Amino acid sequence: MTGDTTEAESPPGSGAEYARLAEYAVRRLSRYIEECHRAIEPVSGIAPLSEVIVKLSLDRWIREGGMDAGAFESFLEEYLRYSARLHSPAFIGHQTAAPDMPAAVADLIHGAINNPMAVYEMGPSAVAVEFALLNWMITKVGWQPQPQPGASGVSAHAAGVLTHGGSLANLTGLLAARARTAPEAWREGVPADLAVLVPENSHYSIARAVAILGLGERSIVRMETDERGVVRPERLDAALAQVRNEGRRCMAVVANACATATGLHDPLAAIGEFCAANGLWFHVDACHGASALLSPRYRGRLEGIGLADSLVWDAHKMLQTSSLCAALLVRDARDFEGAFHQEASYLFYGSNADGIDFARRAIECTKAGLGLKVFLNLAMRGEAGLGEFVESRYRLTHEFWQRLRGRAGFDCPYEPESNILCFRYGEDDALQIAIRDRLLRSGRFHMTSAVVGGNRYLRLTVINPHTDLATLSALADAIEEIASELGGPC
Ligand SMILES: *Cc1c(COP(=O)(O)O)cnc(C)c1O
Repeated sequence: MTGDTTEAESPPGSGAEYARLAEYAVRRLSRYIEECHRAIEPVSGIAPLSEVIVKLSLDRWIREGGMDAGAFESFLEEYLRYSARLHSPAFIGHQTAAPDMPAAVADLIHGAINNPMAVYEMGPSAVAVEFALLNWMITKVGWQPQPQPGASGVSAHAAGVLTHGGSLANLTGLLAARARTAPEAWREGVPADLAVLVPENSHYSIARAVAILGLGERSIVRMETDERGVVRPERLDAALAQVRNEGRRCMAVVANACATATGLHDPLAAIGEFCAANGLWFHVDACHGASALLSPRYRGRLEGIGLADSLVWDAHKMLQTSSLCAALLVRDARDFEGAFHQEASYLFYGSNADGIDFARRAIECTKAGLGLKVFLNLAMRGEAGLGEFVESRYRLTHEFWQRLRGRAGFDCPYEPESNILCFRYGEDDALQIAIRDRLLRSGRFHMTSAVVGGNRYLRLTVINPHTDLATLSALADAIEEIASELGGPC
């Protein structure tokens, strides 16, 4: 057992118990982070579920309780053993951040004070942080920030809300779109003539949102794309004409910035101009890519993002916070009023004179103080620091792509535009899956796989700040090695 306090001095529920457990956890976790940085442990903690349940003694703890501080230490040890190590440079898997330290500490603060701040009185600091942070994001997009409550001479402005993840933010954005095209839908139910233009390779949360909103998947009209899966804006006219000829109304046009599988950007300016010219709601799913707005070198990839009516920006991807934290931003704040027509008499008593009740804009009722995670990263690293992180990851991905292109046996289907890269070794789909599986099980690299243009590829996301060219060269070596053991590529 560690720590200076004994169990008698730290009774259950006391601040002293908190200190005792937290001090141990923080010390152990800081060692875990250091070990991950040096890639001492395998990057993956994968094992059969049945084994993990036994090793963590889950059945026993649930049945008997009685975990004391000493047992907690052993439990944490096992818990960390079976964790995916996002802090390892060999983590090049899913688009989730190795949280930067200020953001990680924000989670600790929320965990202790628990200010579920969807109504102002439940966390004035958290509301103020979310308000200021959203306005910072809004300014980065090039929109008018929201004035403070009670400001005079208010003109048109944008607004936003932080949600528990990009999927929920996409749903909220499309709900606002539905309210504009079919305001009666909230009361009367959804009319049958709505359609949504969606890129072929949009994130699955878009199709889910459409289904959840009651439009039915049949209302999704897939937009034509090139061989890389990027939307061809010159084909939008025809797509819209088809929708209208079928007697349907286009509720929204969705674009990727960037696409989850490939990391490629749809041409936002061209699509946005098309939407503006035709009076269509433009929803930009910039979950992954919006953070490039902070990079002078790469923000051009997002040109036209300001034409969006709604856009989604995940902080738990490239702003290095823990999951979850996403922003939904709408160009015209009034669109939030249409989105949720409900009133909850126990939460809202007329308009709030002191602050803002974010619950009016959110699907969630109880909501965590998500803004602090982003805010502390921003305050400690500075906007330039956050931008440099994005830039370094994008640049490294491009450098690796250049190396890989010249290497025998490797094939890259496109030039990367972000920190997501698809490539394959040989041409056999099954080989790619086998390679990924071996890398994961051996704990050497945690990477993913995706289908592009009908072919299976290996896919990596350079999102850990410690990944460098040497890490990625070692990956290429490991892939060659595994492929030769497996008898490919021939
Ligand atoms: C990651 C991602 C999402 C999903 O966001 P979550 O925060 O995981 O719910 C949606 N769209 C795109 C383009 C993404 O990259």
